[in-house]
Amino acid sequence: MAMKIGRRFQGKVAIVTASTQGIGLAIAERLGLEGASIVISSRKQKNVDEAVEKLKNKGIRVLGVVCHVSNPQQRKHLIQKTVEEYGKIDVFVSNAAVNPTVDPVLQTQESILDKLWEINVKATVLLLQEAAPHLQKGSSVVLISSIAGFNPQGAMAMYGVTKTALLGLTKALAAEMAPDTRVNCVAPGFVPTHFAEYITKDEAVRKIAEEKTLLQRLGTPEDMAAASAFLASDDACYITGETLVVAGGMPSRL
Ligand code: NAP
Repeated sequence: MAMKIGRRFQGKVAIVTASTQGIGLAIAERLGLEGASIVISSRKQKNVDEAVEKLKNKGIRVLGVVCHVSNPQQRKHLIQKTVEEYGKIDVFVSNAAVNPTVDPVLQTQESILDKLWEINVKATVLLLQEAAPHLQKGSSVVLISSIAGFNPQGAMAMYGVTKTALLGLTKALAAEMAPDTRVNCVAPGFVPTHFAEYITKDEAVRKIAEEKTLLQRLGTPEDMAAASAFLASDDACYITGETLVVAGGMPSRL
């Protein structure tokens, strides 16, 4: 189905972290197609270069920067390069996360607990500390959480807990950054990306995941991008501190 999209981000500058593939790249593409000047980033130069090329081929104005979100110099560099190139920041999407273990919480090693906290939660705070002085009046922050944040269990328990923390961080930042900056959150369901391969590559496990949704399908990166773009746009100008679950009707909350 051909999708009609608007130009809600004309003249805006948007940073999306962890954005050289999957959900992050789809968000960058959506914001770019709607007129934003984009900054994409991830850990590997090759991935950054390839993603920049893809977006340029779609007519998007894009800058690519290497940024491992837990590296302080690279975080600083990401914001500095954005401001050098575009002069301001209107939209900041924090999308990086890891899920390095399937162990139960009580068996998760301390180094893994630290890594989960550092990448999934702390890096968002530190990046926003760098970005805040450049955020414009009317700007918008979107954090990418997960449906697992509503019910952290099983193989995704500790990862889920870090995603629950993002729901709280959304509320805290919304209060702190109001009224000039809105802060919202997207909680995706299952999306068949590299990150979710362990669920979606096995046909039987994939079917179980599909059946957990009311809409009987997995999500797409474009579904997540549409929700993120809505929250980042002026269409959501009276929404802050909220989490939008984009999970085909999977159970989250009342
Ligand atoms: P993905 O397709 O595997 O893409 C991950 C992206 O992040 C890549 O561009 C990767 O590039 C980059 N990256 C990885 N570690 C990074 C780091 N430390 N610093 C900077 N960039 C990093 O993943 P995805 O499924 O799109 O996931 C994106 C977000 O959605 C995550 O927050 C995840 O928790 C959330 N989410 C996903 C699902 C799902 O089912 N897929 C469900 C709920 C929530 P490099 O390798 O070059 O760094």
